[in-house]
Amino acid sequence: MGRPVSTLIDADLCTGCGLCVAVCPADTIELKDGKAVVSGAHSIACGHCAAICPTKAIRVGEIDPQSLHFTTFAMDESWLAPGEFAIAELVRLMASRRSCRNYTNEPVSKEILADLVKIGATAPSGTNSQRWTFTILSQRAEVKALGNQIALYFEKLNRWASNPLLRFLTRLIGKPALADYYHRHYPSVQKSLREWHEQGRDRLFHDATAAILIGSRSGASCPAEDALLASQNILLAAHAMGLGTCLIGFAVEALARDSQCKKILQLPTDEPVYAVIGLGYPREPYQRLTGRKKPLVRFPALDNAER
Ligand code: SF4
Repeated sequence: MGRPVSTLIDADLCTGCGLCVAVCPADTIELKDGKAVVSGAHSIACGHCAAICPTKAIRVGEIDPQSLHFTTFAMDESWLAPGEFAIAELVRLMASRRSCRNYTNEPVSKEILADLVKIGATAPSGTNSQRWTFTILSQRAEVKALGNQIALYFEKLNRWASNPLLRFLTRLIGKPALADYYHRHYPSVQKSLREWHEQGRDRLFHDATAAILIGSRSGASCPAEDALLASQNILLAAHAMGLGTCLIGFAVEALARDSQCKKILQLPTDEPVYAVIGLGYPREPYQRLTGRKKPLVRFPALDNAER
């Protein structure tokens, strides 16, 4: 864990309170002669030290000073302590957000999309690596072009899957994915492809006017989790900004398996994409919250737990 240190401490402002030392998860800082100094060789650049310092004596060079400055809204930058935010409002937002499959033609501005990326990047990431990448399609024509490429991939996949001999042989060598795909998805994908070509019906992105793809550069300890945490931030924030969103799993699958999909997006071949979010202004005026299925919950009594 840890990367080169970019922490800077202003000795004139430091009072030696030690708070930064106590919160540092990487032992980057210590107190010497009553002042905080950088003594560790590594840092995860989490910013805990800068966040807790009462005299603003610390700056972490890796942190973009513009990362919490948004174009489309103003934000109070004071820290909200645990318990300070209205839980009922937060949960209402979470429960109100629905996957959108019916958008207007109104485009989403690049400013809103850029702000959503900044909001996504406020999510936690494994060892604070923040190695996620955000690829933005800001026009319906671009979303459609990606949809066309994804359709080509699924046409190929459906051709393979409809071949009983190929299904049999792949299962025989211990790879049942093609047969499973045939039974679970082939008919609906075939129908969607027909509608895409014959009626221009977009069952993939549902006519979303924009899309954000979230991937990861090398060096992340939990790349998929990081991308999905950033995605959830974007989904909730988008709802608060008046947008509808939908995670597109079939697009993630195509991007993982078809190099041509990445090529048209100019994505590096070794950069996995873990989430694809379709966005736009929703047509659907929902009337109420509906809740969720009852989840399976366990409180296991561990034999080796000391009580
Ligand atoms: Fe100095 Fe700030 Fe660290 Fe306190 S938290 S020791 S004032 S740098």
